[in-house]
Amino acid sequence: MADFDGLNESLTARKSQHLYRTRRVLSSAQKPEQEVNGRQVLSFCSNDYLGLANDPEVKSAFISATEEFGVGSGASHLVNGHSELHHQLEVALAEFTGRDRAVLFSTGYMANLGAIAALVGKGDTILQDRWNHASLIDAGLSCGARFKRYQHNDMSSLEQRLCGAKGGRTLIVTDGVFSMDGDLAPLDQVANLADQYNACLMVDDAHGLGVLGTAGAGCAEHFQLNQQQLPVLMGTLGKAFGTFGAFIAGSESMVETMIQQARTYIYTTALPPAVAAATLVSIERIKQDQWRRDQLLRLTERFREGASRIGFTLMPSHTPIQPILVGSERLALDLSQALEDRGLLITAIRPPTVPKGTARLRVTFSAAHSELQLERLLNGLSDVYQALSDRDRDSLARAA
Ligand code: PMP
Repeated sequence: MADFDGLNESLTARKSQHLYRTRRVLSSAQKPEQEVNGRQVLSFCSNDYLGLANDPEVKSAFISATEEFGVGSGASHLVNGHSELHHQLEVALAEFTGRDRAVLFSTGYMANLGAIAALVGKGDTILQDRWNHASLIDAGLSCGARFKRYQHNDMSSLEQRLCGAKGGRTLIVTDGVFSMDGDLAPLDQVANLADQYNACLMVDDAHGLGVLGTAGAGCAEHFQLNQQQLPVLMGTLGKAFGTFGAFIAGSESMVETMIQQARTYIYTTALPPAVAAATLVSIERIKQDQWRRDQLLRLTERFREGASRIGFTLMPSHTPIQPILVGSERLALDLSQALEDRGLLITAIRPPTVPKGTARLRVTFSAAHSELQLERLLNGLSDVYQALSDRDRDSLARAA
């Protein structure tokens, strides 16, 4: 078969619309200074917010556990892949998030798909912020419940949907920190509405854990929401924890429901035990190393000041996710390329990841970045801004 139902045509169309995605090859560790496509670059696009992916203690825990437990877990949790290290990590995550219990999933994507389908189905209603992460949206679309989106962070839109929910269970789902914008959901208000309308609240805190809260316990700590107010807390381990995997934390019955009913938990291989061993050390670093969060905040605020002075439009975010709004897909790609030519790696984020007309450069910071590296970024941004044509500068201003 030369071309299965026009696959090549649709790939070509993507290219002409500036929507084609290419992968770069990383041939060094995930650190600020890295080798990409055979070239040394300074990267501002990882989610390793606290710089723990290369922390010596985290790495050494991973190595020793590999020596003892081997590389792979060899089975799913319910068969016999649930090791003592997984168990210890679940206990530590429950304690860290102030929940009764936690259960590990192999990825955040699977945690969201599995948890949502375990909680709602036919006859129920699921309400989601329209800018939620793709894994939540996919879960909403596939779980069988009535799926409605409310306007981003808009409590009157959420309330309107809550009023329209009829019969069955109602689950409200939101990102804690929005992954492509960096802003926070007003969780105190969302939790109040959930309580008022007898709905259950689930928060995906992939980008808040480790970063927000005095102890780094994320959005729940930031908004002081206990388990009753926020019964389903989902976290990922591949971002601030610097490792891999995910978890759901909540009450005994909530977590047991995941173990008994979440298909993406039951029918998949457990994480390598060494990942659990490394994450146990990450949790300690997160709790103890306040300097990592201080450094992030310093970099973020200095960046906001510097980038706005150059003329860029930033989003209302005070987290390490600092997108520069560009608008057109073509211009976002051109800017990303111009920065890469200067040794700075910042990926262009385009539809469908973000709404049409809001392509952006997603700058993210890590506690592993230095002030000097931030200066290099600002100098590079200033150079590319100066080199823009009047037309492109106008189009940047219009995107705002
Ligand atoms: N939720 C959010 C908000 C995310 O940003 C991501 C990862 N980009 C996920 C879930 C999925 O997590 P994982 O990478 O562990 O599958």
